[in-house]
Amino acid sequence: MPHDTPLIATVVGGLVLAFIFGALANRLRMPPLVGYLLAGVAVGPFTPGFVADAHLAQELAEIGVILLMFGVGLHFSLKDLLSVKAIAIPGAVVQITLATLLGMGLAWAMGWPVGEGFIFGLALSVASTVVLLTALQERRLVETRRGQIAVGWLIVEDIAMVLALVLIPALSGILGGKGEAISNQALLVTLAITLGKVIAFVAVMLIFGRRLIPWILERIAATGNRELFRLGVLAIALGFALGSAYVFGVSFALGAFFAGMILSESKLSHRAAEESLPLRDAFAVLFFVSVGMLFDPSIIIREPWLVLATVFIIVVGKSLAALGIVLAFRHPLSTALTISASLAQIGEFSFILATLGMSLGLLSPTGRDLILAGAIISILLNPMLFVGLDRLKPWLKQRETPASREKEPEPAMWAPLQDHTVLVGFGRVGHMVAASLTQQHQPFIVIEDQIDVVTALRLDGIPALYGNAAAPGMMEAADIASARWLLVAIPHVLEAGQIIEHARKLNPQIEVVARAHSDAELVYFEEHGATHTIMGEHEIAKGMANWVLISSKEASTH
Ligand code: AMP
Repeated sequence: MPHDTPLIATVVGGLVLAFIFGALANRLRMPPLVGYLLAGVAVGPFTPGFVADAHLAQELAEIGVILLMFGVGLHFSLKDLLSVKAIAIPGAVVQITLATLLGMGLAWAMGWPVGEGFIFGLALSVASTVVLLTALQERRLVETRRGQIAVGWLIVEDIAMVLALVLIPALSGILGGKGEAISNQALLVTLAITLGKVIAFVAVMLIFGRRLIPWILERIAATGNRELFRLGVLAIALGFALGSAYVFGVSFALGAFFAGMILSESKLSHRAAEESLPLRDAFAVLFFVSVGMLFDPSIIIREPWLVLATVFIIVVGKSLAALGIVLAFRHPLSTALTISASLAQIGEFSFILATLGMSLGLLSPTGRDLILAGAIISILLNPMLFVGLDRLKPWLKQRETPASREKEPEPAMWAPLQDHTVLVGFGRVGHMVAASLTQQHQPFIVIEDQIDVVTALRLDGIPALYGNAAAPGMMEAADIASARWLLVAIPHVLEAGQIIEHARKLNPQIEVVARAHSDAELVYFEEHGATHTIMGEHEIAKGMANWVLISSKEASTH
């Protein structure tokens, strides 16, 4: 029996339960995030049974936040943001202000101090990156104008929150929390120092970091050692987060975000994102577990009306505010509704704000529990909002005239496909397949989950869909029912199996060729309905043996 191993118990307990609850949530067609939060509740102090170490869990969760923010940075293109800034900046600012005021109004009605109302309202005003991006990706909305506005809006919210996280501790005294109630002048000095440090940090990152970070990664990539590359990515994310916090006093989150954003310009950013993904996901899960641990479910019985009012502010209040703003900017109703639905939830930033508010003595446990209840319930309701939106689609279409429709940046247009090939993945394997198909004038469509690859394909006039081929609706969008071939050229076995199975259901006659890397995968694909499976290693072996045969034949003829 192991002795006292709280760190192992917390990591293992958190991950195992998160896995079980996450799988259950997935089965019930809910976001796995809900499962992770519930797993946290289960290992938390408010429910019977095993209680994990909340302090350790929170510290581990910080790594999740760092990697999450690094990931946000990696997908943060200044160009995309600039293209929607005219609506995203005022939209996010007005919505944050309105939602904060609504939260403060509720707090005022409850007789809470102003500082608490402020933190509470602010926490209700920011949407979760994870929830929003998942919702948009599932519906293939990321590359539409609506999607870009929503993402831009979210990024402005993120930046506002990053600033809030830095400034709130400085303002804590004034807001009535821990820390001395400083004079206006002292506050201004603190503000100036904080902003000065943030500006110095941004300048150093943009001038030196911009050269240093890609240089380091390119060097490591040149060694060709994958393990070192993965380690390099993690070292950069974690090292810059911690280093910036120590040197400039900014949050871990801001340091990681900038390291990611600087890397997003590099050609290696996709690989960096890919390499940091598994660890990021594992620690992000621990983040949600640690938040769930703080949640006292009895709040739903103790304060049902307050919980309802909080959810109302998040789902209805914020949505109406967003709707009004988007319509005021003369975008069509369908755009306004999509943006409202995407933002009608709260998540990680709200949790971070709640934790910060508690540590500064600004937020009461009731306020925190309301934020957590509001987050859990609004995340649960979010997919339903989108389903409602889908139901409204015919009506919305009828209402819109061609002139009032959203101008999409690059409409994905191609003639209806028949007897074509659906090619999943356009990487090392997929692009060579595509070249052969093009040469033989075979009609085909590509599904790829890297936006820049899809954009480039479309510029070349090749039909290409953006998104995860395993996501609902993707196979249908590629007209799989009328296709002859499905070529699955991605390296992920489980996803590939899912894709094949779904395609078979829609088109039992289709011939499926899959890509395997081992004998076990070969069997797995056959069980899942692949007609042929090509194993990379077999082809390499054949190629090598052929070389020997050819050169020995040449030698014997000379
Ligand atoms: P490679 O291993 O170099 O042939 O690259 C595989 C390609 O498949 C990459 O470009 C990935 O972005 C892409 N890919 C991987 N998984 C999926 C998926 N589930 N749906 C669409 N594209 C994918």
